[in-house]
This record gives sequence, C-alpha cells and structure tokens, in this order.
Amino acid sequence: MVLEFTNIEELVRIASQAKENAYCPYSNFRVGAALVTESGEIYTGCNVENACYPVGNCAERTAIVKAVSEGHRSFKAIAVITDKAAKIMPCGLCRQSLIEFSKDLVVYIASVDLTFRVTTLSELLPHGFTAEDLN
Ligand SMILES: [Zn+2]
Repeated sequence: MVLEFTNIEELVRIASQAKENAYCPYSNFRVGAALVTESGEIYTGCNVENACYPVGNCAERTAIVKAVSEGHRSFKAIAVITDKAAKIMPCGLCRQSLIEFSKDLVVYIASVDLTFRVTTLSELLPHGFTAEDLN
C-alpha cells in the first residue's frame, strides 16, 4: 500500500490499520508500522511470526523491506503502534535496520488509544553502527 503522507494523526491511524494484518499466533503481540519516505509516500508493515521463532519479522522491518524493495532509500518518519496502553519502543534489530537508511528519522510511538510520543532514531540508537564505520 502506498499512500501520501498527510499528518501525524493520520500516520498513526495508518499504522494501526496495518496492525490488523499482524500474524502473531505465538506472542499475540500485534504491531503495526507506517514508514514515510522522503517523497512523502507511506509504506506499512506488521509483525509476521513463524513457528521457528527467529524467522519472525517485526512490523518496522516489514515496512523497510517493502519501501526499499520499491526503490526508496531515505525516510522522514515512522509510526509504530501496538495493542498496549504503554508506548512500546522498537527493538534493537529494528533500530539498526532503520539507521541504515535514515539517522535523523522521527519516530512516533503510539499506544492502542492512538496517543503517541515523539522521539528520534538518534535518541533510540546513539552512536549506531553505519556504513561510515566500514571506511
Ligand atoms: Zn523490531
């Protein structure tokens, strides 16, 4: 699904809709994500679990893979939402996946009631490992 970015509340609602497709029979922990490209398009993702647990994929990385596979390499923001009242932060694997493409990503972390807090990827993953470290 490719949509045009409108506002943050809409982005959170789109992430919440993406959560409806979560495949999580093992954890019953649904997650949805909506990733905004530099050009303003939105790619959604949900978590996709597997009977072989490590094979499972997080919502954030589902959205990244969808966007990158369509040619996008830079992103402005991501909204992430769960069914919890708490605002659940992206896991370390997702933080590393996101920093590959956008160090300055704005991250909106929403709870089930659609309220959200704002942070940045640089706050979530300070001193992250990037391509610059390979040179
Ligand atoms: Zn994750």
